[in-house]
Amino acid sequence: DPPQRLSKVLATAGVASRRSSEELIFEGKVTVNGSVCNIPQTKVDPARDMIYVNGNRLPKKLPPKVYLALNKPKGYICSSGEKETKPVISLFDDYLKSWDKINPGRPKPRLFTVGRLDVATTGLIFVTNDGEFAQKISHPSSNLTKEYIATIDGLVNKRHLIAISEGTIIEGVHCTPDVVELLPRQPDVSRPRLRIVVHEGRNHEVRELVKNAGLQIYSLKRVRIGGFRLPSDLV
Ligand code: URA
Repeated sequence: DPPQRLSKVLATAGVASRRSSEELIFEGKVTVNGSVCNIPQTKVDPARDMIYVNGNRLPKKLPPKVYLALNKPKGYICSSGEKETKPVISLFDDYLKSWDKINPGRPKPRLFTVGRLDVATTGLIFVTNDGEFAQKISHPSSNLTKEYIATIDGLVNKRHLIAISEGTIIEGVHCTPDVVELLPRQPDVSRPRLRIVVHEGRNHEVRELVKNAGLQIYSLKRVRIGGFRLPSDLV
């Protein structure tokens, strides 16, 4: 095999997304042939070089790639988790516990989320062990749109909709939604609901857009990523 970039080798081995793999490398958590390697671009040969992450040898036999779609419940966080918070990946504990029974002899995948949803946000998120896939989906150049349903506390008028559509500045970038529309009222739902489509995927983007327009979010749910929509009975 031709040599490959260290960050790519980690992502392919399912250690983490390419971006997070780079962070692990910068943080000095990765050794190649016994010495710490801080440079993600370093060319390595996964078949010959001894690569360790956090003291663990990169598995020789790669786990199969898994791609899961989760309807995230409220109260789970998408990073690995500090005290008092439940990592969303823990929802797959049973799945991983029964792995050896269902996939005898195949290494267990290390799962992570593709991007993040806020702790209070529910809805569609992909979970995988394929770092290259995660990178492709999350990168702004993928141009994938993401659709959210924001349920609002209080009344929504035309000026709110205009304010949301004009966008807001997040991390120095002017973000505008692709679509903002007031959904027809449902007989059993009293709060107004907005359909908001974005493509940037900045931190808290939808919450910032709504807050900036002077509205308060009651709940937020992601219902679509690109061409993949949550089944309607889960929306
Ligand atoms: N935008 C938000 O504000 N929160 C999310 O969880 C996702 C997108």
